[in-house]
Amino acid sequence: MTSATQAATRIPRDGHPVSRKHISESALKVMSRLSSQGFEAYLVGGAVRDLLLGGHPKDFDVATDATPEEVHELFRNSRIIGRRFRIVHVRFGREIIEVTTFRGHHDSDEQEDKRRPAAKQSDSGMLLRDNVFGSLEEDAVRRDFTVNALYYSSKDFCVYDYVDGLRDLEHRQIRIIGDAEKRYREDPVRMLRAVRFAAKLDFDIAESTAEPIPELSHMLEAIPAARLFDEMLKLFMAGYALPTFRLLRKYQLLEHLFPATASELDMNPRAVKLVEAAMASTDARVAEDKPVTPAFILAALLWPPVVELKKSLEDNGLAPMEALAEAASSLTQEQLHHIAIPRRFTAPMREIWEFQLRLQKRKGRGLVKHLSHRRFRAAYDFLLLREQSGEDLEGLGKFWTEMQEKHPDVEVDTGPSEEEKPRPRRRRRRRKRPQ
Ligand code: ATP
Ligand code: MG
Repeated sequence: MTSATQAATRIPRDGHPVSRKHISESALKVMSRLSSQGFEAYLVGGAVRDLLLGGHPKDFDVATDATPEEVHELFRNSRIIGRRFRIVHVRFGREIIEVTTFRGHHDSDEQEDKRRPAAKQSDSGMLLRDNVFGSLEEDAVRRDFTVNALYYSSKDFCVYDYVDGLRDLEHRQIRIIGDAEKRYREDPVRMLRAVRFAAKLDFDIAESTAEPIPELSHMLEAIPAARLFDEMLKLFMAGYALPTFRLLRKYQLLEHLFPATASELDMNPRAVKLVEAAMASTDARVAEDKPVTPAFILAALLWPPVVELKKSLEDNGLAPMEALAEAASSLTQEQLHHIAIPRRFTAPMREIWEFQLRLQKRKGRGLVKHLSHRRFRAAYDFLLLREQSGEDLEGLGKFWTEMQEKHPDVEVDTGPSEEEKPRPRRRRRRRKRPQ
């Protein structure tokens, strides 16, 4: 069904809803320049998938038989990026069109340079590099899911389907191309992508695509923490955090992304409620086009294990603020081994936590001053979520709601926090030359 030699199903213009009207001018420009130079060029990936579903693509990817160097030469506004997977970014103002050269099979003899092969695989089957180029048919089967492997040509206006992607689109199925286990071993991030697309599109994951995930989920541990941070943003900040989160738990993926959280959630239904409430609130804000920050979701995800550790540190004699600081440091540090969360997000996350303690005080001076803190709003929202998820804070949320009503004129400080300010560059001391 998904062999490279399968003939394409070709759907003519009047058989599908993809229209040039809905395609970004920049993507059309890229495709027409490539074709005018004798190259093949297709719209592919999320854009074709989302247009076929009647949605609005968030970006446009183009596939071509031109090499990255050839593409780069054609567009002054472009640069070649990536090492593991070289592609070209063509920039038009704020929009970036991602141009990918057709990928091919890896068993060719062309890789004469053994020290720098175009493709490289680890012992476990993970693709460390994938820069072997090929034909359109080969490219189709190197893509991740059938619904992501549909091509649209702006030359003949046809949609090309080599992998029965249209059938899966119709049946609302996420189906990996080829052997699921092999494809996950090549790139374990595909397991996260399966879940992400299922959540976003409200599709089911085909049985054979879903089945190997729990057993292979541990392979995520081999993915660089920086790549997992990028993926985490796509998982939680795209407006579908709640369904995504549920699928991550269902397929035992969460425990390899947020291990301390996952084990705490298994024992603590109230913690699940809190995290889910934070996800739902972020999704609602995305839907309303309000600003969102990963710091809030991270604060919710790590709060349950932080609270547990804080408790045991307090049992050992630490004061609450100290215990919190130590629990926060220790869990953040541990988390960074898995996901490289930049300081600009861990800093506000910790501020939200610290505020949970400070807001407990209802008397004394300085209460009104809290209202002007730039993290007050997030901390207050977080406090409400804790109450919503069943924690009894003895009316603390109401107290702070009324406090704000009583002081409507307090201005919020919007400058960067101490931790977020760029650190002064330390002068590098010149090393003395040995005499
Ligand atoms: P989105 O709507 O999130 O942009 P997308 O499907 O366009 O979804 P991208 O990450 O932009 O996803 O990737 C573009 C296309 O590249 C995918 O549709 C898929 O065909 C291919 N692709 C991306 N990542 C992988 C991967 N890890 N393995 C195989 N193919 C991939
Ligand atoms: Mg895309």
